[in-house]
Amino acid sequence: MFITFEGIDGSGKSTQARLLAEALRMGAQDVVLTREPGGSPGAEEIRRLVLEGDPDRWSAQTEILLFTAARRDHLEKTIAPALAAGRIVISDRFADSTRLYQGITRGDLRAQVDALHSLMIGREPDLTFIIDIDPAVGLARAFARNGTEERFEEMGEAMQHTMRAGFLALAAEFPARCVVIDGARAPEAVAADVLATARERLA
Ligand code: C5P
Repeated sequence: MFITFEGIDGSGKSTQARLLAEALRMGAQDVVLTREPGGSPGAEEIRRLVLEGDPDRWSAQTEILLFTAARRDHLEKTIAPALAAGRIVISDRFADSTRLYQGITRGDLRAQVDALHSLMIGREPDLTFIIDIDPAVGLARAFARNGTEERFEEMGEAMQHTMRAGFLALAAEFPARCVVIDGARAPEAVAADVLATARERLA
């Protein structure tokens, strides 16, 4: 089973991905926890290209190609082999992030993102958790975090509102696999919801 976590910066999705992996492992499930951009050696190299250095050196189209290239490598090297071996794969972000970040932040490029996705990826998750949070809370959390990859957080609160609406719209677009989780609670409460849903789908 292929499970993904999506949400705006500071939503807590990375924490939730880790907590779900830990909980399922406690139940003796074989889990691969991975992330995007990255998740394989080649894709981690591409992650550095897209998240470090001057962001303006990439056009919007080149950025779509780079994220999709990273995803292709992640799929080939990490996700597909693990699924074929019967393991559960949990990814912190996947194609929905590109549908939004590359699809709407630098113009309306969703059609290009989708075309490249169907050509080069062609795989959707079985279950996607959209961790929903008020953008002001998410932004405060994101700014409070130290890191070298914070350029995307500089997009500010207006864009965070657009992204939140975008994730909720994706949940409506893909209702069979998307579950929206209220992320404005204690991490343990959010994790309990996530685990209950994952167990239902795994049963
Ligand atoms: O999930 P994480 O916070 O590690 O993502 C790193 C950054 O990359 C985020 O700030 C996110 O906004 C950005 N990103 C992006 N396009 C993607 C995936 C992530 O702009 N497809």
